[in-house]
Amino acid sequence: MKILVTGGAGYIGSNLVDALRASGHDVRVLDNLSVGQIENIAPHLGAAGFEFICDSILNAEAVDKLVSQVDLVYHLAAAVGVRYIVKDPLNAILTNVRGTENVLASCSRYWKRLVIASTSEVYGKSNGQMLSETADRTLGPTSVNRWSYSASKAIDEHLAWAYCGKGLPVSVVRYFNSYGPRLNEDGYGSVIANFIRQALCDEPITVHGDGRQTRSFTYVTDTVKGTMLAGERPEAIGEVFNIGDPVEISVSELAKLIKGMTRSGSPIISVPYEDYYGQNFEDTPRRCPDITKAATWLGFEPQVQLEDGLRHTIDWCREHYKSANHKGSATTSPPLTVVRPKSAEAARTPAVTAADAAGPAVQC
Ligand code: UDP
Repeated sequence: MKILVTGGAGYIGSNLVDALRASGHDVRVLDNLSVGQIENIAPHLGAAGFEFICDSILNAEAVDKLVSQVDLVYHLAAAVGVRYIVKDPLNAILTNVRGTENVLASCSRYWKRLVIASTSEVYGKSNGQMLSETADRTLGPTSVNRWSYSASKAIDEHLAWAYCGKGLPVSVVRYFNSYGPRLNEDGYGSVIANFIRQALCDEPITVHGDGRQTRSFTYVTDTVKGTMLAGERPEAIGEVFNIGDPVEISVSELAKLIKGMTRSGSPIISVPYEDYYGQNFEDTPRRCPDITKAATWLGFEPQVQLEDGLRHTIDWCREHYKSANHKGSATTSPPLTVVRPKSAEAARTPAVTAADAAGPAVQC
């Protein structure tokens, strides 16, 4: 198959490209390298069946030409990362809404199947429940820049359903805190990238707020698997899926885990949200996916456990992060352990107990 991946030089995009190429597909990557990096796709450059086009999804002509040449499109190009969005909301909104509209219009013109990468951020401040795809969205006021990201991705989804109503075969995947090799060192400031970089540099590991907020982290091979399933299965057309690993951990526990795994001497410190994001920021205390739909419809089941995935991510960061001082033992990790599919019940058991969450969040 001929496949276009927008944002294919980015962290998730390039991991998707690797998997598609390994499955024997011809791949074209459209990426303007604003956050993505050429090194991420370096092994494919010059290879038969691979093409890289350095351009923006805002270039409707370029998008249109590429879409006309392929059978399937994975649309991952977007302005991502809460910190980045908070800093430049205008660019984020325009990139996400106009860029996605360009991709949708072209796919509709040539009747090409499309998978759009969305985000768990569309749910907004979650209300403490596990999030199923039909959960309500709960957002703060428009004066809080963070929510513009959620709104822009939700508009992308609305656009997708509008085009779907006209017959476009489109699916949406909502990612939950993906992590793994190629996580950008400073591009979008995800908590795992930050903590690993800080630990490897012996800088303080900065836990925002009281550290009791939890997230469900998903290893990138699982993120990629869910994405590919959405592009392969006919039943995925016209549907949205949570792609994540429901096992939860608090941010303060994550800091301790990464500190221990890197054998870092970094202190773990608590910093107010506004020191990092500026004034007028709102966080969400919990964001945990209900993946029943992806499991039932697509056969999606996350397979990589957090410690295993972190070990591989840390090894990669040790080697690639420019600021890392490469301290500690650069181990060669054993291959990823593919765990037996968890039962729905086990998968929903938080890794962090209520006692953990209630205890002192961080050592300062
Ligand atoms: N966070 C943190 N320290 C950091 C970066 C992030 O404590 O250096 C927190 C952040 O405030 C949030 C959580 O980690 O509560 C996850 O942040 P991230 O930006 O990775 O993802 P999202 O908020 O979109 O889930």
